[in-house]
Amino acid sequence: MNVSPTFVPRIRPHELPKVCVVVVGHTPEEMAEKAEFLVRDNPFVEFRLDYLSKPLLAIKPLQEFLDYHPHVYAIATCRRVANGGKFRGSIAAELDVLSKAAEVGCQLVDLELETALKVKPLQLKKLRERAALILSHHDFRATKKLRETLTSMEAVQADFYKIVGTATTLHDNVVMMKFLEEQSYRHSLIGLCMGEQGIISRILGLRAGSVFTFASAIAGEETAPGQVTAKMLRDTYRVDKVDTATRVYGVAGDPIAHSLSPLLMNTAFRRENVNAVYLGLHAKTMKDLRACMKDIPISGLSVTMPYKQEILEDLDNTDPYTAKTGACNTVVRGQDGKLYGFNTDVAGVVRPLEHKLSLSGAKVLILGAGGAARAAVFGLKERGAEIWILNRTAAKGQKLAKSARVKALRKPDLKKLTFDVIVNATSVGMGLSKDSPLKPEEIKAKYVFDMVYDPLETPLLKAARLRGTEVIPGIEMFVQQAARQFEIWTGKPAPADEMRRVALMELQERSAHAAAKKNDKKKEK
Ligand code: NAP
Repeated sequence: MNVSPTFVPRIRPHELPKVCVVVVGHTPEEMAEKAEFLVRDNPFVEFRLDYLSKPLLAIKPLQEFLDYHPHVYAIATCRRVANGGKFRGSIAAELDVLSKAAEVGCQLVDLELETALKVKPLQLKKLRERAALILSHHDFRATKKLRETLTSMEAVQADFYKIVGTATTLHDNVVMMKFLEEQSYRHSLIGLCMGEQGIISRILGLRAGSVFTFASAIAGEETAPGQVTAKMLRDTYRVDKVDTATRVYGVAGDPIAHSLSPLLMNTAFRRENVNAVYLGLHAKTMKDLRACMKDIPISGLSVTMPYKQEILEDLDNTDPYTAKTGACNTVVRGQDGKLYGFNTDVAGVVRPLEHKLSLSGAKVLILGAGGAARAAVFGLKERGAEIWILNRTAAKGQKLAKSARVKALRKPDLKKLTFDVIVNATSVGMGLSKDSPLKPEEIKAKYVFDMVYDPLETPLLKAARLRGTEVIPGIEMFVQQAARQFEIWTGKPAPADEMRRVALMELQERSAHAAAKKNDKKKEK
C-alpha cells in the first residue's frame, strides 16, 4: 500500500468547519460510499472505524477516499467498548488502527482519556506526529466535574480536548457552556451534552467556545443520544450563522420531542432574515426551566403542555387573552429584562375562521372545555359569535360557559341545533385513533374546524368532508398561533404560507414513515 508522507501540517482550529458529520457503516465499502455522498455538502467527517468488525480493512478505502478528496478534514475514531464505543480489540490494536488511518490522510484522530492514560508517552508522541490528537472524555450519565476532568486530561498533551456530558436537565447545558466560556481561551475545546435535553449545547456551544460540534449523516444513524442530522443543524438551526448577536427562542414543555415548532420558527427566521435561533427545550420541571431562563438570555418562549398555567407565576405582565383564558403560550423578555405573557392560541382559532366567514353573529359549537376550548370561547365571543359549549364532563363545560357568559349544551339537545361552525377542542381523534367526537349525523354545520393537527385529516374531518361540509384542519391553528408569536417577537409579518408548507411536508413525511413502519410490522408477522 502506498502511504502518504508522515509530515502533517498542524490543524488550525479556526480553519475547521463548525459541523463534523459522523460516518458509520457495516462494511468499509459502505462507509466509503456514505462518505462519498456526504462530502458534497460536508467537508468535515468522522470515520467511526469501531463500527466495523475489522477496522483495518477500512484503511485502503479510506486512503482512496482521502486522496480523491484532499479538501476534506477527517477524524479517525476507533473507540473501545469500555469507553462507550464498539471496538473489541486491545489498546495496542486501537492505536494501530488510528496510526494507520493517520498515515493515509486522516488529519485528526480521537483517543479516549481512559486509553491515553494507559499508553506510553512515546507512543502518543508518535501518533501526534502523524495527526492532530483529539483527547476525548464521555460521561454517559451526567454533566459534572468538567473542570476536574479537563485538569486530568491536561496530563496528556493533545491538540484538542473534547468533553462530552449527558444532559438530564436543561440547566446542564448552562454548566457546559459556562465551562466552555471559561476554559476555551486555554485550549482548543470541543464540548457538548448528549441526550434530548442537550440540544442547546449542540447549537449554542459553538458560540460559547466549542471549536466544532458533531452531527449524524441521516436520521436513524445517530452515534450518540440527542445527535441531530447535519442537514438539520445547518438548514434548520443555521448553526454556521449563530453568533453572539443571535437571539435565542425556544419551545418549553414536556414532552416536546415531536414538536413541529422548531421547524416552523427556524424556517420563519431564515425566510425573514432574523438573526435568531429556536430550540426545543424539554423541561421536566418548571424549576429547571426557570434556572435555564435565568442563565441563558432567552428572548422568548413558546410555552406548551404542561406549563401554560404554571408560567403565569413568572410573568411581570400579560395581555388580556392570557388573563381571560388563564393560560399563556408565548413569553417575551422585554428590553427591561421583564417577562411578558401572551396567548396566541386565540389568534390561532380566530384567524382561520375569519378567512372563511364573518364571526359576528355566527353560531359556533365548541367541543371541549380545556385550555384550547377556553382560547376559542373567549376569542370567538370577542368577535361577536354566539357560542355553545359541549363537554364530556358536563360540569366543566357549564363552568366555562358561565364564566364566559355563553351557553352550555347537553348532548341530547345537539340534534335540535345547526351551526355555522363546529370547533373540536378535545383531543379526540389524535394520532392513530379512529374516534370522532361526533357521529356523522351530528355534524350539522357549514364549517368544521378540528384543532387536532396530527393526523392532518382526523376521523371528524373525514366524516365532515364526506357530508359536504367545508373543513379547516388543525394545522391552520398551529400555523396561525405560531405566526402570531413570530410577529410579537420580531415586529414583522410572519411568512405564514412558508410555515404552513414546511409543517405540511413534515406531517406528510411522518405519516408516510408511520405507515411504512406499520407495513414492516405486518410483514414480520
Ligand atoms: P386539555 O386542557 O387537556 O382539554 C382536553 C379536552 O378534551 C377536555 O375538554 C376533555 O374533556 C376533552 N376530552 C379528552 N378526551 C376526551 C374523550 N375521550 N371524549 C370526549 N372529550 C374528551 O387539552 P387542550 O390543551 O385544551 O387541547 C385540546 C386539543 O387541542 C388537543 O388535541 C391539542 O393537541 C389541541 N390543540 C391544538 C392546537 C393547535 O395549534 N392546533 C393548539 C392547542 C391545542 P373532559 O373535561 O371531560 O376531560
